[in-house]
Order: sequence, then C-alpha cells, then structure tokens
Amino acid sequence: MALHVRGAILPEGDVRDLWLVGDRVTFEPVGGAETISDGGFVVPGLVDAHCHLGIAYGAKPIERVDQARELAVIDRDAGVLALRDAGSPFPYPELDDEAGIPRLARAGRHVAPPRRYLRDIGVEVAAEEVAATVTAQAKAGNGWVKLVGDWIDRGVGDLAPSWDAATMTAAVEAAHAAGARAAVHTFSEDGVEIMVRAGVDSVEHGTGLSLDLIDEMARQGTALVPTMINIRTFGKIAEQAREKFAGYADHMIALRDRFPGVVRAAYEAGVPIYLGTDAGGGIQHGLQAEEMLILQEAGLPAAEIIAAASWKAREWLGFPGLVEGGLADLVVYEADPRADLRVVRAPKRIVLRGEVIR
Ligand SMILES: [Zn+2]
Repeated sequence: MALHVRGAILPEGDVRDLWLVGDRVTFEPVGGAETISDGGFVVPGLVDAHCHLGIAYGAKPIERVDQARELAVIDRDAGVLALRDAGSPFPYPELDDEAGIPRLARAGRHVAPPRRYLRDIGVEVAAEEVAATVTAQAKAGNGWVKLVGDWIDRGVGDLAPSWDAATMTAAVEAAHAAGARAAVHTFSEDGVEIMVRAGVDSVEHGTGLSLDLIDEMARQGTALVPTMINIRTFGKIAEQAREKFAGYADHMIALRDRFPGVVRAAYEAGVPIYLGTDAGGGIQHGLQAEEMLILQEAGLPAAEIIAAASWKAREWLGFPGLVEGGLADLVVYEADPRADLRVVRAPKRIVLRGEVIR
C-alpha cells in the first residue's frame, strides 16, 4: 500500500504532501494511501559519508555478514539511511539492496603500504603494485576505492606519505579508469598535498590541509570529510605513542588543535564538506547527530550542516532525495533542524526503502 506524508519538506521547507509507492517518491496524489506522518520537518534521511561496516569495534575485521548488518541497523535506527563504507576488509555486496539496510556506497579494502596501517585491515602492497591493486579493489567495492595516503613511519618517528606523487597519481587514474572514485585517508601536511594534487575525489580527515590546498580543492571540487569525532581521539593516539615517538605525538596534537579552523576555512572557500563519523574500529556506530553538533562548534551554520549530512551527501553518492521519482527514504523531526540541530538526535519517524522502520 502507498504511504502518505505531510510536513515541511526539506530542502525547500514548504508544507506539502508526498506519497511513497514502493521505493519511490511522488508528489502526485495516490488514492487510498495510509497517512503515516502529519506535521514536523521531513528530510531525506541522514548520510554517514565515512564509516566502516566491515571493521568491528576494537579494529578487527568482521567475520560474518551478520555483523555488518547489525552495525548498519544501529545507524538506520538513528535516522542514517545511506552509508559510505570507507574501506572494508570483509566484502558484503549482498547487503547492497537488502530491505531494512541503508543505501550503501562501498569501497573495497584499504590500499596501504606494508606494515603502515592498522593490522589486518588493508591490502598492503609495494609502490609498483598500487595501481593494479586499486583496479582490483574497485571491483570489490561499488563505486569507491580507499587509499591510505599517510601513516606513522616508525623509521622516521612521524607521519609520512605512503608513496610518492607519481604512484599516487597512477593510483587515482586507475580508480577512475575502473569507474570508481578515490577517497584517501590522510592526517599529514605532505600526505594531503600529494593526494590533492593527484586528483583524489575525497579527502578523509584532512588535518594537514593548508589554505593553498583548500583553494585547490575548491577549484577541483574535491570533497572533505572531516570526521570530527575521530580527530578528537588524536589526544589518546598521541599519548599511547609518546614514549617511543614523541615527535609524532606532538605533531598529532598540533594537527588536532588547528583542525576546527581548517574545516571552517574549507567551508568558507567553498569546498564540498560531507559528514562522517568514522564508526567501526574505535568509534561506535549511530553517532552522526553528534558529528553534526561537533561540526557546528567549528563554526558552520546549522542549515549547511543538515544539507551536508542529508540531501547534498545523497546527491554526491547517487541516492536521490525527496524529489519526484526519488528514493523512498525519509526521516521526520519534530522541529526544524536548520534552526536547532539537536532535533536530529530524536527522529520521530523513519522510513527506509518505502518501509516504516519507526
Ligand atoms: Zn575510516
């Protein structure tokens, strides 16, 4: 049976009626539809643009697809109806169109240099194997590949780029040739410079960004996913490493402390910003509302944050929102999230793939 919803529909915000027929949205009245919500503010659902369903809490690969399902449901029940998995050691393509599971944009495994990333998570390869590995991992995902752009180099005692500029440029070209977009993990100044100039599609974390690189990202349309919750863990990472790697520890703290200013500068320069919690590994799922509120502390307006966490991210990932023929995903909030973001903590109604979840 068709479902009927009436409320202030974002982004426009006019009070309207919409109908859900199967997995599609229509604004043409449908007879005999059941009204499931009347009032409030209707948004196309939140998007976690950087999380991991294939990494269990404690940074271990999952072993069964059921574990990915359970993590996805935690996000769904928080009103997050689309996820971008930014690197998974365990493939779960069978969840792509599964009822009750958020829309999925998935990368394959992280592509990392030997012993320079979290143990057992990435495919670890030498420079000359990077491009071919990217091609293979593009097939394992459904539209994204994930590169590790930098990590601690224990020989150097600090963050260092994974590979040189030529290797990274070839890696991004290999992703594009395979029909995928490339996302890169990067914390450091020199790592992010190599990756932005290599033409990567999205910078994950991006604590090392300079104003010059921010301008280049704005010109290229390169996205930034700042993962504010993750950056807040830098203090703990630094203290665990300080005894052996004091320079690295100081560097991580400095990157953390300047980061809110970096994100504000990127926003002001017009860099497309999307919100990701980096759940999986060391961060719990279901925290997108908190990520939004931390981003607000960095000085971005609430109206921009809800757009970036919802309809703009859906458009970026290819999941049309509340437009004629769009996908039948929505969340209803009591009040206007553009006026007070805290309402996103408490969705009143959740509909995913045309099915009422709550
Ligand atoms: Zn991540």
